[in-house]
Amino acid sequence: MVSVGVLALQGDFLEHIQLLNSIPGVGSFAVKFKNDLDKLDALIIPGGESTTIGRLLTIKGLDVGIREFVNSGRPVMGVCAGAILLAKNVVDRFVGETGQFTLRLMNIKVLRNAFGREKDSFESEVFVDILGNMKAVFIRGPAIVEAWGDAKIIGFIDHPLGRFGAVAIERNLIAVAFHPELTGDIRLYKYLISEARR
Ligand code: GLN
Repeated sequence: MVSVGVLALQGDFLEHIQLLNSIPGVGSFAVKFKNDLDKLDALIIPGGESTTIGRLLTIKGLDVGIREFVNSGRPVMGVCAGAILLAKNVVDRFVGETGQFTLRLMNIKVLRNAFGREKDSFESEVFVDILGNMKAVFIRGPAIVEAWGDAKIIGFIDHPLGRFGAVAIERNLIAVAFHPELTGDIRLYKYLISEARR
């Protein structure tokens, strides 16, 4: 049994928990406190509002907990706001530098609100190396615009505004700009779980 935690401070954590529960051999847990991380093999940081989740992370000491979790080699997938929280560098399409808290764990630059505002949310197809084409829902989503060091962009979206990174990996970390929990496609979850088993 692989135990996957979903950070449950704000955002759509329930959708991830429901999807994880449909995968045989996987147990899912809501993570609200630092010691909830102890029993886990992998963690998902869900979408929501990255500034709010970031603030709550620091208040609860979960920032320290997640850094330790990653240093122990266990895998973490950050989805949408979660991808923003993993990034070392964040800018917003409308306001530029956001100065917001992030965990600074991945060598990626993320453009918040890359495709416009809430009303510009859309569904499209993303091509991901190894995994293939994937239906993808972007909700006021970010784009991954740069990767350096060990980080690599492995998924791309072609949008009227240009071609952008949608999935990046670096060691035991995965950043995803769209919402796999909404399409029921379990391939990224399986990738996360296979990393946990390594
Ligand atoms: N725009 C949100 C943010 O910047 C992310 C949106 C999402 O997670 N769906 O935090």
